[in-house]
Amino acid sequence: MSPPPILLVVVDTEEEFDWSAPFARDNTSVHAMADIHRSQEICDRFGIRPVYVMDYPIATQEEGWLPLKEFVEDGRAVIGAHLHPWVSPPFIEELTIANTFPGNLPAELEEEKLTLLTRQIQTVIGKKPKIYKAGRYGFGPNTPAILEKLGYEIDLSPSPPFDFGPGHGPDFSRTSNHPQRITPGGGIFSFPATGDYVGRWATSRRHAHRLHRLASTPLLSALRLPGILSRFRLLERIRLSPEGHSPDELERLTVALIRRGLNVFSLTLHSPTLRPGCTPYVKNKEDLNRFLKTLGQYFHFFINSLGGIALTPLELKMRLEALTPHCGLAMHNLNETTSP
Ligand SMILES: [Zn+2]
Repeated sequence: MSPPPILLVVVDTEEEFDWSAPFARDNTSVHAMADIHRSQEICDRFGIRPVYVMDYPIATQEEGWLPLKEFVEDGRAVIGAHLHPWVSPPFIEELTIANTFPGNLPAELEEEKLTLLTRQIQTVIGKKPKIYKAGRYGFGPNTPAILEKLGYEIDLSPSPPFDFGPGHGPDFSRTSNHPQRITPGGGIFSFPATGDYVGRWATSRRHAHRLHRLASTPLLSALRLPGILSRFRLLERIRLSPEGHSPDELERLTVALIRRGLNVFSLTLHSPTLRPGCTPYVKNKEDLNRFLKTLGQYFHFFINSLGGIALTPLELKMRLEALTPHCGLAMHNLNETTSP
């Protein structure tokens, strides 16, 4: 019998900002945190303890961190760090698009920003974070060594199958959805945010990526080709998130990836989505109800229909270490190492 699938729930916990406006250092409002209980209560119903990866504006304003501290003290959630460099001191770098990805910063500055954020989280929550997620998923070449130095154990940054390269970010188009060890000593694990291509034409990741890129060119996009491919279930790009996806899409992705040998799933969302008007995914009360319903429906599917279990990232790490105590960089005997 195959082992039950495992679910992580990751909440990018951050300030509200207009996703289409330029980045600004003074954009630090965290009023939407008054609504964070909405998704937490759904997690509670299924015994899920989400991880709130919190950024500097959250960690420095009581209305941001206090609800999280209460969840943690009640044993309902765990915390991690989320580095948005443009609102995380020290403010030395020029404010450019490239510099909004922490992994693009000089190593010393990336380290300094994460050091201050780590300390601040420890001060307000009373626990040192051991889980990291790069802002805008900007994991860079210096990130593993910095995480190791600061005592982190888990990175949640990779976001397959997305390629943020054209916008100065990392390319995850070839990144596997499987857990990986990312440091030479094997002490830090990476658990990607689950996402992939599914559908009849998604015969391999590379083929699907090429096809999707072609369909997304301005001409074919204007002809609505991506929508047509999706409607006929030929090719869909789905991230395991209730943001912009229906329960059916999330279930299709999950079933397809289980068939491909994936056993660990990571569902992600953003804290401001819980307040209408704060992200593009939830514009009004109706959207919010649909969003919350999708979340509950997916948890029901994963836990009750699939017989899956929910773990925190550190619990998952402990399990994987017990299974592969002396393993090197990859987890060959746990899962397939490449997903299509
Ligand atoms: Zn973020």
